[in-house]
Amino acid sequence: AESTFTGPRKVLLAAPRGYCAGVDRAVIAVEKALETYGAPVYVRKEIVHNRHVVETLQEKGVIFVEEADQVPEGALVVFSAHGVSPAVKQMAEDRDLQTIDATCPLVTKVHREAVRFARDDYEILLIGHEGHEEVEGTYGEAPENTTIVNGPWEVEDLQVRNPDQLIWLSQTTLSVDETMETVQKLRERFPKLQDPPSDDICYATSNRQAAIKKVAPQSDLVIVVGSENSSNSVRLKEVAKEYGAARAERVDYANQVDEAWFQDAATIGVTSGASVPEVLVDDVLRLLAEYGYGEVEEIVTAEEDIVFSLPKEIRKALTQAG
Ligand code: SF4
Repeated sequence: AESTFTGPRKVLLAAPRGYCAGVDRAVIAVEKALETYGAPVYVRKEIVHNRHVVETLQEKGVIFVEEADQVPEGALVVFSAHGVSPAVKQMAEDRDLQTIDATCPLVTKVHREAVRFARDDYEILLIGHEGHEEVEGTYGEAPENTTIVNGPWEVEDLQVRNPDQLIWLSQTTLSVDETMETVQKLRERFPKLQDPPSDDICYATSNRQAAIKKVAPQSDLVIVVGSENSSNSVRLKEVAKEYGAARAERVDYANQVDEAWFQDAATIGVTSGASVPEVLVDDVLRLLAEYGYGEVEEIVTAEEDIVFSLPKEIRKALTQAG
C-alpha cells in the first residue's frame, strides 16, 4: 500500500556512516592482491562483514574459506580485518602459505594490549561477543589469562583468580553505552579493575553511534544498511531504538525495504555500518525518494580523516612491481 501519510516527508542521513579506515584498507588489500597475483586469492573468513562486498569479490576470483587448513599448500591467503590468533598464523606457516594480514590496526592494538597485560600476569576481562571472529582472535593471544564477558548480565557470577590484578579490554565494535554499563558493574564487584590504556571501541564505531543518537529521536523509522553478522551495524539498530526511533530496521539491500514500515512516517533516519559501501545507501535513498522522501538532510556529528597504510606485504609487492 502507498504511504497514508500526506504531510511533508524527509530523510535524515547520519554522518559519519559507512566505510571506516580499517574496512577500506582490507578491501583494497584484497583487490591489490588480485591485481598483483591474479585469481584465485584465498581469504580466511569474510574479509569484512558485508554480503555485497563478499559477493563482489567472489565474482572477481576470491575464494573465501573458514580456516587456513582449507587453503592449498603454498597458496596466498589474506587474513580478514577482524584479526587472527597466533594459532591461525602458525597454521598458515605450517602449510607454507603466503599471507597478507589485513587485520585492522585498531584490532592489532587490542591484541598488543592483551599480550602485554598477560605478560605482566594480569587477568584480562575481554568484553565482547563470544564466537565473533575478532573476539576469537584477541582471546587467542592469551587464552590462559582471558575471560570473555558478553555483557552486564554476566558480571554477577563472574569468577576471577585475583581481583587485584584485573584489566578489561573490549571488542572494537560494541555499543558504547552497554560497554560502560558492563564496566561499571565490573568495577562495583572489583574496585581495583584497571582500564585499558586507550579506548578499544574504535573511533568509527563510536562516531556512527553518536550520529544515530542525534538522528533517532527525530525519526519515525530508522533504516540501517548493513549485514546481519556485522556487529557494528546491528548495534546501530539497537542504539536507534534506545534513542527513540519508533521503529528501526536493518537491510542488506534496498529491495529489502518494506513500504509497510513507513506508513505514517514523516521522517526516516538512514545510516550504515562500517563495512557498507556507499552505493548501497544511495540505492536506499533512491527508493525512498520514489515514495516521496526526496528531501535529504545530512546530520553531521563528526568529520573523519583517518586513513591507514596498506598491509606491509602489499606495499612491498607494489614497490617490487614498480
Ligand atoms: Fe577497524 Fe573500527 Fe573499522 Fe573495525 S570498525 S575495521 S576496528 S576502524
